Amino acid sequence: MNSKIIDGKKISLERKELLKEKVAKLKKKLTLAVVSVGDNPASRVYVGQKEKMAYEVGYNFKNLHFDTISTDDLIKEIKKLNDDDSVTGIIVQLPLPENLDKDRILNTVLPNKDVDGLTNINLLKLVKNESSLLPCTPKGVMTLIDSYNIDLIGKKVVIVGRSELVGLPLFHLLLHRNATVTLCHSKTKDLKSYTKDADILIVAVGKKGLISKDMVKDGSIIIDVGINRVDGKLYGDVDADAIDKSLLMTPVPGGVGPMTVISLMENVYETGTK
Ligand code: NAD
Repeated sequence: MNSKIIDGKKISLERKELLKEKVAKLKKKLTLAVVSVGDNPASRVYVGQKEKMAYEVGYNFKNLHFDTISTDDLIKEIKKLNDDDSVTGIIVQLPLPENLDKDRILNTVLPNKDVDGLTNINLLKLVKNESSLLPCTPKGVMTLIDSYNIDLIGKKVVIVGRSELVGLPLFHLLLHRNATVTLCHSKTKDLKSYTKDADILIVAVGKKGLISKDMVKDGSIIIDVGINRVDGKLYGDVDADAIDKSLLMTPVPGGVGPMTVISLMENVYETGTK
């Protein structure tokens, strides 16, 4: 293994073993419920990964799938899960079909069962640094940073992508850790002038080849969140050869992806043991 690789797969497996031991000691069985709507092939894969990992860790798993459903009916179903004491954590698999009211649906999940950390209440807690349940991908990125003892204080961190799922929460999490954080997005002019200056570059856009080797700083740390499937193969947003210039870099696959799933499992444990 290249010594520059930030090995998310390895870290996630180590954390899974630790979590399994802790779960085995619990007196009650924890249950993760996933609500999904429609027929999105990528979502099917992601739900399958969560189910597999949930059982491996020692949880129960419940998938409430609807081919089609109205916003009001979906909200009723989520409320039933909220009221069900046997359900520890609830996630709504995204993306939802366009005709559904995503915000109303996500915010129906009880904040203390919101293991995806996506309700407005949990997002506000994150902004105010009072969070316990962090959204899974940002939590996974922070875990990788800490696992590799990456110093953040005063470092120039550039995040590309400002989604509520990834870039925006990461902006706040890194700011709370005293990094100097710049958040770039689709309207940023001269992206390279920012990325080239970054001690730590985090990219979460969903565009293969967005960041080329010449856009990164020598000796920087690169965390590539992007997942792009091209001709059946997975790529990140950063060209793989950028690793030549970096100090450390996440691969795709095997970097941030496995950390997202283990972070979800850790959130279920946290809600279930409060
Ligand atoms: P999104 O579409 O919600 O957000 C994309 C962001 O990229 C937006 O903020 C947009 O402003 C920005 N953007 C678009 N074009 C840009 C450009 N040319 N220059 C700079 N910024 C630009 O996507 P998302 O949900 O945040 O996901 C981003 C990527 O991360 C996707 O590839 C997704 O599959 C991946 N992802 C991976 C994991 C994981 O576990 N590894 C988890 C979530 C998302």
